[in-house]
Order: sequence, then C-alpha cells, then structure tokens
Amino acid sequence: GAEPRTARTGEPRLTVVSGPSGVGKSSVLDELRRQSSEVYFSVSATTRAPRPGEIDGVQYHFVSVAEFERMIADGEMLEYARYAGNLYGTPRKPVEKAIDEGRPAVLEIELQGARQVRQAWPDAQLVMLLPPSWEALVDRLTGRGTEPEDVVEQRLATAREELAAEPEFDATVVNADLHSATSELLDLILGREQ
Ligand code: 5GP
Repeated sequence: GAEPRTARTGEPRLTVVSGPSGVGKSSVLDELRRQSSEVYFSVSATTRAPRPGEIDGVQYHFVSVAEFERMIADGEMLEYARYAGNLYGTPRKPVEKAIDEGRPAVLEIELQGARQVRQAWPDAQLVMLLPPSWEALVDRLTGRGTEPEDVVEQRLATAREELAAEPEFDATVVNADLHSATSELLDLILGREQ
C-alpha cells in the first residue's frame, strides 16, 4: 500500500497492543479507557456479527464483506487480517488524525496485524500482554469448561504461536494484576519512564 509513515519530532506514539486470547486484553483496555481521555483508541472494522451488547461504532464498525473489501481496495486500512473466519482491520484516517492532533493512539489487534503495522508505521511501539504463566493461560482458556476439547486445543495452539512472537515486540507487560498492568501499559503509551 501506501508509503510508510515516519514520525515527526515530538509527535506522540502509536502503540499496538497484542497478546494471546485469554490474557485479559479487553479488561486492561477497558481500564485504560477509564483512566485516560487523552489516548485515542482505534475502532476497528470487522465482518463478524455483533455480540449481545456491542454497538456499531463503539466496539467495532460492523461492515459487510463487500464494504470491507472496498475499504482495502481504496487504501483505507492501515492493516487487516483474517481471524477465526472473519476480517478485522484498522481504518487509517482516524489514527493519523489523532497523532496529528497530538494524541497518543492505541490499536488492540492480533499478531498478523501487528506485523503489518511494523512495516506501515516503523515508529510504532509493539507491546505484548503476557499471562503470569503458561499454566495461568491454560486455566483461562479451559476454565469455562463449556468448549469442546478440539476447540480448546486449537486455542492453546494459537496462543503458543502468539507467545512465540514475543521477540518481535518492543516491550511486554505481564497481566498478573489488572491495576499494575494498566499503569505499566499507560506509561508505555504516554512514553513515560518506567
Ligand atoms: P473479537 O472477535 O474477539 O472481538 O476479536 C478477535 C481478535 O481480533 C482479537 O485478537 C483482536 O485483538 C483482533 N482484532 C480486533 N480488531 C482488529 C483489527 O483491526 N486488526 C487486526 N489485525 N486484529 C484485530
């Protein structure tokens, strides 16, 4: 697609937050939203159906496959990926606008998308949210006990792959405690010293 975006001096940073399913990304991001009105949180487009309680334009922009493909063709996506049979992507414009206005921006996306942002926006900071231990993640992914064994096995395999990508990331935050994980992540997003 487009030319990679290079940072201007003093510009706030774009931060990508990734991590395996079950690590608690949504809880940490929800807590961050409560703590900072300065940070811009990207709203992705997706072709998956809304879950109960999800509102179009809030959690996601829920679009048809045709509309998603049009957005790709028109160069409107900063990155996109297929995940669990659905398409997910980050509209580029609102992210650029936030950074231009001096607001740090955050994308919560999966690994393939994080890798594309690395190419499209070389100054982006990639942060991986980690579980306190592999056992803790297995507990989270199997804990509900409602999923068939092959579904759980598939999730564990995907989680193992995602964790193996840790060396590609600039920083990691261990989600052992919601409040310390949130404050560590906010420091990284705002570029404050650890
Ligand atoms: P869910 O369907 O559970 O909301 O999200 C499934 C996965 O898609 C999560 O790992 C989430 O981080 C990822 N995701 C959400 N939005 C985007 C996006 O815009 N781009 C990419 N690459 N992944 C996304």
